[in-house]
Amino acid sequence: MSLCVRLLAFMILHLAPAVALPDSPASGPNCPILDATDSHARQSLMSYICFYSADPGDPAHEATVPKQLPESLDWTPAMGHDLVFSHTDSVYWIHLKVRNTGPAQKLWYLKLNYPLLDEVTFWQTGNGRYDHLRTGDQYPFNSRGIDYRYFLLPVTLDSGETRGITLRVRSSGALNVPLSLESPEQVIAQSNHLTLTHGLFYGALLVFAVFNLLLFFSSGTVQYFYNAFYMAALGLFLFSMGGFANQYFWPDSAGFANTSIPLALALCALSMTLFGHSFLEVEKNTIAETTLKALAWLCVGFLALTLVLPYNKTILLNTVLALTVISSLFIVAIIRWRQGYQPAMWYVLAWLVMLVGGLVYALAAFGYLADFLAREALMQLVVGGQVILLNYAMVQRWRLLNEKLLAVEHNARFDLELKVHERTSQLRNTMRELEKANRQLATLSLNDALTGLYNRRHLDNILPELCAESRRTGQPFTLALVDADHFKVINDTWGHGFGDTCLQFIADILTRHVKRPRDIAIRFGGEEFALLLPGTDTEGARKVCRAILHDSATSSLTGPDGAKAILTLSAGIATLTHGETQSGLFERADEALYQAKATGRNKVVASDTLPTE
Ligand code: GH3
Ligand code: MG
Ligand code: MG
Repeated sequence: MSLCVRLLAFMILHLAPAVALPDSPASGPNCPILDATDSHARQSLMSYICFYSADPGDPAHEATVPKQLPESLDWTPAMGHDLVFSHTDSVYWIHLKVRNTGPAQKLWYLKLNYPLLDEVTFWQTGNGRYDHLRTGDQYPFNSRGIDYRYFLLPVTLDSGETRGITLRVRSSGALNVPLSLESPEQVIAQSNHLTLTHGLFYGALLVFAVFNLLLFFSSGTVQYFYNAFYMAALGLFLFSMGGFANQYFWPDSAGFANTSIPLALALCALSMTLFGHSFLEVEKNTIAETTLKALAWLCVGFLALTLVLPYNKTILLNTVLALTVISSLFIVAIIRWRQGYQPAMWYVLAWLVMLVGGLVYALAAFGYLADFLAREALMQLVVGGQVILLNYAMVQRWRLLNEKLLAVEHNARFDLELKVHERTSQLRNTMRELEKANRQLATLSLNDALTGLYNRRHLDNILPELCAESRRTGQPFTLALVDADHFKVINDTWGHGFGDTCLQFIADILTRHVKRPRDIAIRFGGEEFALLLPGTDTEGARKVCRAILHDSATSSLTGPDGAKAILTLSAGIATLTHGETQSGLFERADEALYQAKATGRNKVVASDTLPTE
């Protein structure tokens, strides 16, 4: 922010004429004498100042001490105005007369509130004394005599003494000569206040920069690094402009004092570009991106040039560069904002603060706000505002990113839940189908494919159960084995196909007669059937079997050759006796069947009617 302001100030100070100077005619060498004991008079010091601007070629330009000045020098009274000169090759001579009207010797300080002058020489004459102090930022810092970033000249006056003070000022930069005559108490008090405000300002800037650097190290997000870089560069620029850098960073490298300012300016431009590029998330391969990249490289080039070219060239070049960077970033930020990138709004706002600060600073540079300290305070206010806004912009950006991440996570979770739900219901359906298939398979495995009756496996499962149940309940349980008579003949006569039809025919008869819900008809062998009749005694079973045999014997089937086929059956019955095993039961039924076969077929034989051996 301050950058813009400083830049504008530079432009104005370099290019504009000395607008703050009075244009009244010369009034001669005799300036009014200032009564140093009168604090009101001291406050209007500039009404007691005379100055002379010596252009190159003027003998006063070549003079290095007041004695060499021409007698008839055309001094101009400052008439209460501050001495603000544009960039010039001229040498400025300034003259002031002070008197101590007090009863005792006293010390005052002549303070020059502008730290960036190349060369300042003070002379004091009076009471036979002749002191001089040659200093400026082209000299080592300790040439100032007093360790202070501004120029302080101690003026000790005896009671009633009048002192003539002459200054020779020369500078390659903008030339401001804001003078004040202060008591030591005033100097100390102001220095204290300023130390506090500067400490707060630079301390806050440093904390912000370090915090961003830590954020960079912990998150790896390069934007935090650029922000820290920008704040550090901005801080360095203000530090140099305020004279602190000369005092603390390079007090002995007088030659670097001037270079440090355009250098810090180029660093500011570079860090601004990098931060802007990263913060505004400029899309790749767009004009904006290409411009910012080119600018960043230009900044690097200018950084190198600053170390090679003279100060008065690089300060102009880097000013133009920084202005270009600021305006480019401003335009890109507005574009990004209009594209709907919300954090750009805060960025634009931060840049606007800088523009406002720039305007105010321009007013200052034109002499409407000549107080260097006020200007500096304003700069710090503007820079502070910008830094806070930029950091707030970063917080906003972080919030936006976080919201996006949360939304992505929420959607992902929602999708996942949906998928899990889908898969679960698919799985449930599959399991239902599988169960159904299993049931079908179980049914199939227990049924005989040809006749649809239960098969041997079912007989093996159910027979022990029914036997156990009968034993438990005491209810009778009868097993009847039914076998087709001379079936081989049927097969042999009409073939297996017809034999199968006969088997189905027998199954139909059995199904018809086995009517009770718990009765079961089974085909357990080729043409061998079993009837399981729980709750039925031998007599009941005999009746059922007789009816079956009757049905079969009285029905006729037509063979493939059209001939009539009569199918007779034989049955053997056994009812479970106390303590009998299932195999015992089966054997008895089989034996009864055998008897039926042996005794003429087409008959029912019950086991209990068999003669006991
Ligand atoms: P018996 O009166 O003594 O029972 O004489 P049978 O010919 O019926 O006796 P046997 O047990 O010797 O012969 C059974 C015949 O049943 C043999 C086979 O040709 C026939 N058979 C067995 N299973 C099937 C079948 O699934 N289909 C057909 N078509 N015939 C079968
Ligand atoms: Mg048979
Ligand atoms: Mg048989």
